[in-house]
Amino acid sequence: MALLFKDGVSVRGIRPECGVALTTALSVFDKNHIGDLTVTSCTDSIHMVGSLHYKGLAFDIKTHGFSPQRVFQLVKDALPWCVVLLENLGQPEEHVHCQVGQGKDWTNVPEISGPNVK
Ligand SMILES: [Zn+2]
Repeated sequence: MALLFKDGVSVRGIRPECGVALTTALSVFDKNHIGDLTVTSCTDSIHMVGSLHYKGLAFDIKTHGFSPQRVFQLVKDALPWCVVLLENLGQPEEHVHCQVGQGKDWTNVPEISGPNVK
């Protein structure tokens, strides 16, 4: 079991809360013998305008090769303080998205990446 990063993934600017969430997700993969956890995006790439990816508060996990629903449910159950979503189910971009802070207001946290940040 290892923590892997897809080519081009950046964790530059990741906030500590997000690091804790990622570590928790990794322990879920370990405990449940799911396999290697691959981060497919963090503060890199293009996301929705206002995405918490740009603030270092979100990451995506690869689900291909696993049971996506199972991975989603296990990670969601382990992270009740995060928003965990199963996105693009059945499509090539399928992944579990985790963002920190159920209902928390991150308005004042500056973006550290994204199309509007030079
Ligand atoms: Zn995401």
